[in-house]
Amino acid sequence: MSVLSDLLAALRDRTVEVVDLTAPLQADTPVLQLPPPFANASAFGLSEISRYDDRGPAWYWNDIHTSEHTGTHFDAPIHWITAKDGEDIAQVAPQKLLAPAAVLDFADQAAANPDFLLEIEHVRTWEKEHGPLPEGGWLLYRTGWDARSENAAAFLNADDTGPHTPGISVDCAKWLAEESPLIGLGVETVGTDAGTAHSFDPPFPCHSFLLGAGKYGLTQLQNLAQLPPTGAVVVAGPLPIVGGSGSPARVLALVER
Ligand code: MN
Repeated sequence: MSVLSDLLAALRDRTVEVVDLTAPLQADTPVLQLPPPFANASAFGLSEISRYDDRGPAWYWNDIHTSEHTGTHFDAPIHWITAKDGEDIAQVAPQKLLAPAAVLDFADQAAANPDFLLEIEHVRTWEKEHGPLPEGGWLLYRTGWDARSENAAAFLNADDTGPHTPGISVDCAKWLAEESPLIGLGVETVGTDAGTAHSFDPPFPCHSFLLGAGKYGLTQLQNLAQLPPTGAVVVAGPLPIVGGSGSPARVLALVER
């Protein structure tokens, strides 16, 4: 049998399970909120073109309104100034949209401290147990934040000092960008950086270092708890928006049971 017919047989008999890592896209899907004077991305919206009526008697369809960075989405390198001549979302090679995943679970730490930051030492400790981070793969950072995804206030978790959501330290972001074999970083929060990363040096180090190194981001993922620490394959489907800085994406994982 061929590899693909084996895969299809495994999908049919559930030896390989498909886990949906994507948040449903709707008007109340949480969107990053930047303070003034910065401009913000749009919430998701639908506007009806016709619904079996005079405008189209046998068909229903909508226009969609969204930003490139609304809901579960893919950050292309050109999103950040450190990669302003880098790949746009349409230039990401399709082969890179299927890649292995390392899943690091820090949900307990994030529950105890919403400002928890992943450090190099945490990744090194994980590698001692599970082996090296995968070549050309994703680091999927589980923080338990997906449980808050239907409540924008809890998900963004802002107070008068700004948002408080878990992320990655400056040193670890630089190391993942420059020394790891990863293709990118996937998170459950609204963006790849910590809520407090506006005050880091440099600000937003995951965006700055990872996108600057030509790597990618995936955000607002769900169901990472259903993935093993190693062995899952991520299938990410951003739209090929020509010149785009990112795209809403359907993100799936294949898991061998
Ligand atoms: Mn983004």
